[in-house]
Amino acid sequence: MKKAVYPGSFDPITYGHINIIKRLKNVCDELTVLVANSPKKPYLFSSEERLEMATQSLQGLENIKVDVYDGLTVNYSIENEINFIIRGVRGAADLEYEMTMSAINKKLAPDIETLIVPADPEYSFLASRFVKEISFFGGALTALVPPCVEEALSKKFIKGEK
Ligand code: ADP
Repeated sequence: MKKAVYPGSFDPITYGHINIIKRLKNVCDELTVLVANSPKKPYLFSSEERLEMATQSLQGLENIKVDVYDGLTVNYSIENEINFIIRGVRGAADLEYEMTMSAINKKLAPDIETLIVPADPEYSFLASRFVKEISFFGGALTALVPPCVEEALSKKFIKGEK
């Protein structure tokens, strides 16, 4: 059984992430979308909220699991017998970072391969941080995130948690 993990902040999940998940889910038997919870990162949404939005957004897709983890992706991968780490790249800036991460992960876990996947051109501009900014200023998000995410964002900002 070939298993892959797609780790990220997913703060929140966007159609850019979902595009990668849909394109890559059939290269393996099981793809785990892993919501990272690093104490070093400031998130807008809690890990429970990010997990819930990812779960709802991916409902009905086969071979997909959603999980949350607060350690290194390679440790999660070893614990769960995962063979591949999937990461998306939108351009040169992402690529440089992802190349470094994959080299570090290779040192930590030589048997786990990283697959670096180019973003679909339709979503190569899309990042969670822009989505948060657009929502903060009341812009339309329909083309960028699933309805449950749009709703969660507007609730978050209406509640004054800016
Ligand atoms: P992280 O904090 O780990 O970068 P993100 O949620 O921002 O978490 O991204 C998770 C992964 O998805 C990263 O590999 C990132 O480059 C990729 N990604 C983010 N947005 C897109 C997009 N629009 N298209 C393709 N890949 C994307």
